[in-house]
Amino acid sequence: MYKNILVPIIFDESRNSEEALKIAERVLEEGGKITALHVIEEVPSYAATYIDESRIRQARTEVEAALATKLGDHKNISSRVVTGHPGRTILEVAEDMGADLIVIASHRPGLQDYFLGSTAARVVRHAPCGVHVIR
Ligand code: ADP
Repeated sequence: MYKNILVPIIFDESRNSEEALKIAERVLEEGGKITALHVIEEVPSYAATYIDESRIRQARTEVEAALATKLGDHKNISSRVVTGHPGRTILEVAEDMGADLIVIASHRPGLQDYFLGSTAARVVRHAPCGVHVIR
């Protein structure tokens, strides 16, 4: 059982983040906490100069709303949205919050030939805690 679980969430119709959230709830100790995290990929600096600041802020607000919707009935799960590189940032957040478990999907559906997607592979390799990979 775990006290402090991180669930990285990606917005893609085909991804089953609900399963990751349910697994986290099942292995959570009483009184423990679950954090759902989405990492907004950083816009490269050469492109950022062409994008309006307000558009970037609006996109972030939309992502926060989408994550809140995804969490739906999971009232006990807190949400976090940060900007960065998905693999690296998931690891940094896990370290900062002292996570004792990360629950992550192995890859997008339909890529069965690959054992792990690039983000999942980085997380498994470098995580400071246990990782539950959903196949
Ligand atoms: P693929 O390369 O097949 O898309 P990934 O390794 O990127 O596989 O995705 C596997 C899992 O990693 C996702 O289901 C999600 O849990 C996590 N993940 C990937 N990108 C992000 C992101 N930007 N924010 C949060 N979690 C992410």
